[in-house]
Amino acid sequence: SLGVLYRDFVGLYERRIGSSDQALPELDIQYGDFAEWQQEWMQSDDLQTQLGYWKERLSDAPPVLELPIDRSRPRVQTHNGATLSRELAPGLAARLRQLAQSEQCTLFILLLAAYDVLLMRYSGSDDIVVGTPIAGRGKRELEPLIGFFVNTLVMRADLSGNPTFNAILRQVKQDSLDAYRNQNVPFEKLVEELQPDRVMSYSPVFQTLFVLEHSATGSNSFSELTAEAVRVKSDTAKFDISLFVSESSDALSCTFEYNIDLFDTATIERMLNHFEVLLESIAANPAVHIGNIQLLNTTELNTVTRSFNDTACDFGKPQAVHHLIEQQVAAAPEQIAIEAHAANAFETLSYQELNHRANRLAHELIAQGAMPGKLIAISYGRSMEMAIATLAVLKSGAAYVPVDPNYPNDRIAYMLQDSAATLLLTSSASDITGTKTLYLDEFDFTTGDDSNPDIAINADAPLYTIYTSGSTGLPKGVVLSHAGLSNLIHWQKTQPGLQDPARTLQFASLSFDVSFQELFSTWTQGGTLVLISEELHKDLPALAVFVSEQNIERLYMPYAALQPLADVLAERSDLPLQIKDIVSAGEQLQITPAVRKLFTRCNGRLHNQYGPSETHVVTSLSLDTAITAPDSWPLLPSIGHPIANTRCYILDAYRQPVAVGVPGELYIAGTQVALHYLGRPELNAEKFSEDPFVAGERMYQSGDRSRFKANGEIEYLGRVDEQVKFRGFRIEPGEIETVISSHLGVQLAAVVLKIDVDKKLVAYASSEPGHELSTKELREHVKAQLPDYMRPTHYVIVDAMPLTPSGKIARRLLPEPVWEREAGNAYTAPRTPTEEALIAIWAEVLGVEQLGIDDDFFDLGGHSLLATQVVSRIRSRLGAEVPLMRLFEEPTVAGFAQFIGTGTSDIATSSGQTITASASGSATQLSFA
Ligand code: AMP
Ligand code: MG
Repeated sequence: SLGVLYRDFVGLYERRIGSSDQALPELDIQYGDFAEWQQEWMQSDDLQTQLGYWKERLSDAPPVLELPIDRSRPRVQTHNGATLSRELAPGLAARLRQLAQSEQCTLFILLLAAYDVLLMRYSGSDDIVVGTPIAGRGKRELEPLIGFFVNTLVMRADLSGNPTFNAILRQVKQDSLDAYRNQNVPFEKLVEELQPDRVMSYSPVFQTLFVLEHSATGSNSFSELTAEAVRVKSDTAKFDISLFVSESSDALSCTFEYNIDLFDTATIERMLNHFEVLLESIAANPAVHIGNIQLLNTTELNTVTRSFNDTACDFGKPQAVHHLIEQQVAAAPEQIAIEAHAANAFETLSYQELNHRANRLAHELIAQGAMPGKLIAISYGRSMEMAIATLAVLKSGAAYVPVDPNYPNDRIAYMLQDSAATLLLTSSASDITGTKTLYLDEFDFTTGDDSNPDIAINADAPLYTIYTSGSTGLPKGVVLSHAGLSNLIHWQKTQPGLQDPARTLQFASLSFDVSFQELFSTWTQGGTLVLISEELHKDLPALAVFVSEQNIERLYMPYAALQPLADVLAERSDLPLQIKDIVSAGEQLQITPAVRKLFTRCNGRLHNQYGPSETHVVTSLSLDTAITAPDSWPLLPSIGHPIANTRCYILDAYRQPVAVGVPGELYIAGTQVALHYLGRPELNAEKFSEDPFVAGERMYQSGDRSRFKANGEIEYLGRVDEQVKFRGFRIEPGEIETVISSHLGVQLAAVVLKIDVDKKLVAYASSEPGHELSTKELREHVKAQLPDYMRPTHYVIVDAMPLTPSGKIARRLLPEPVWEREAGNAYTAPRTPTEEALIAIWAEVLGVEQLGIDDDFFDLGGHSLLATQVVSRIRSRLGAEVPLMRLFEEPTVAGFAQFIGTGTSDIATSSGQTITASASGSATQLSFA
């Protein structure tokens, strides 16, 4: 058609300059005739048939194609564009034409199929939707008309199951034949009918266009003039990205038109490279499986697998971690190793004394059977004894297994049995049975052999086993070695800020690997470990005061705790701070205004460390106020580069390295990879495999989505599975689902993390026929089996679980939780003005209505952070100072009201200092990792 118009144009020109006297041929019909025909057609059955085709074809198509973009997507789609072109090598163009011929398809189909594959490899989606224009001049009479006939067809390809490229060709061929047969439905009409969810930031139905253009020049050239096709430079982009391939006699030229608010030129440049490499491989072998095509050229491959991982660092012969500490003891025995702040007591230990006490316990452990290869469980609250015990276990040659004393008994029993711990170190108050036990509170640390035990220990020996949530219903123990963890310690000593001795807060629970860094990095550097009570750990406002008063210099804070602590500190600009380094981990770090403010005040470094329990820390990014002002720190910092002797690979579903900028799954290799999961051969085989890039090494499949920036920094993008972080804890919803499903009345269960203002962990259950399920019985069932932090905040009983076509639970379709009073919990109205005021505060903080005085704060989704808000609102509105822990003891308004306005003995004058009550055993404690 363009050809016909061009021919007419040449004809007119020739007549004008007098070199021809031929008039243009008479038109058979006019555009008006076409318009009339189209209007009639729009009323016909034919329209309905064609619409039917499209609706069926596109009904469950993915609403958007998520290509990796370089900047955050504007809320409303923009059209600022640019283009970038590349002429394909002439040989390649010829081979592609040949291939189309031998596969009996058009060049259009071949190139569209190849583009589908490129998009699949970039997006990770195997259901690809692409728009493509069609001339719409199907009848010969329409060809010479001037007017708008073009329509857009929607082509959808199913690339699942790693098919061969041939197979894709056949599919695209069939799809385009069907599409041509149904080409009369105007795209606008189709959109109207499909009613896609209109998200203003995306174009509807498809976000990328593919166009094959035939060159308009040809035999009809002007006499005395030469004509040449020129692409009109455009600074707009109709879609996220469009690919125009223009075909002239022997060449093929590819042009990407892209939205410059989404893509950088360098990205499009790489994409052109990859498209060319892709076309080359297809031309060489059309039977290639599309997942196996290598898109990266040798240089790129080398960059992402080697240059970005150039982390080799010789720290000498690997040593046992406790030997590193013993060296520190010998170097500076009088320095303070531990400072313990208990409720009413303050105690310090020198390095010498720490070493002596640990040695005395170690000798006892050895006497009781501890040795390399054995596990010793530690189930003890925050205390000096607990800290000493961890060192003592290492000195005995054994490895420690932290078992949180607040866990339900069944879980503790499971962990002890699964780990086959030789000995349990606990308190005489504990009622754990079935394992040989040593009571730390009864152990005499002051007498006995205080020499360093002389136990030969291999660097590959286990150092600890830490349990983490398991998707099949039971927690799994991860075993890390001395070699791996001493590497971490050595690396830390090369890091600005983290290399110096510091007054370090011991914040993490022993059950979380970061506690290892707090204890052992500090003690190998000659720093002082500052211990706090469980009460202070829960009470962030009080902790903020403590951090100031005790001149804390270094904090390891899970992001979930850093953020509220920063919020508290932002309000307390009166508190002088000595903080130099904060190490954040566990979740995507965000530089909130409060974090920014904190570092504007502190002058120091914020380290974003990343790593799953299976490897401890493996990448890190440091933001340093001496280098960049907090005001220009990125909102969402990357997780940085791999640390010493660590390699990070980002691979796609077929374990091929992805290009810079393209998301994939993060695999971790190097010294710090765990030895294995304890007693889980199948899981070990699944998660730990051979490092494909370094012979003889292993790698761990993290389940984290990520991508490289051009400088090798890694961006964290979320999970590839259902695993979540809730208040800093790593949770497999599958583990909770298994527990809920084990309730006899439950048919199906699903647990989902919902995020609105706050994160909520919501459990959904459908009941077995004939069973009347209540949320109350579910809540109690879960309480008996799972630790506090794994308990859902909301329970919803659904009539039927929404299912996907393949029969899985459709998590996306689960309803938002609405709080309802549990059957059996009667509503009791407030009786006094105090109760009324309290109810108002709770309702606000929890976001629920119709609260009664007997409703449990924690059952309604309350946790220690929200408790902090309750306490501060009580302070400002009722002028009363109530220690946070009171709420854990009396979690109902009826119970809590007694602390307000009654005898002063219960009301503290300065938060944190007068807390004496012990809430251990309370079923509702919640805290941070
Ligand atoms: P855990 O085993 O408890 O250390 O949890 C590990 C998981 O937490 C990782 O697989 C990530 O999903 C997430 N994670 C840990 N550190 C970071 C970080 N700095 N940024 C983003 N996510 C993180
Ligand atoms: Mg971690």
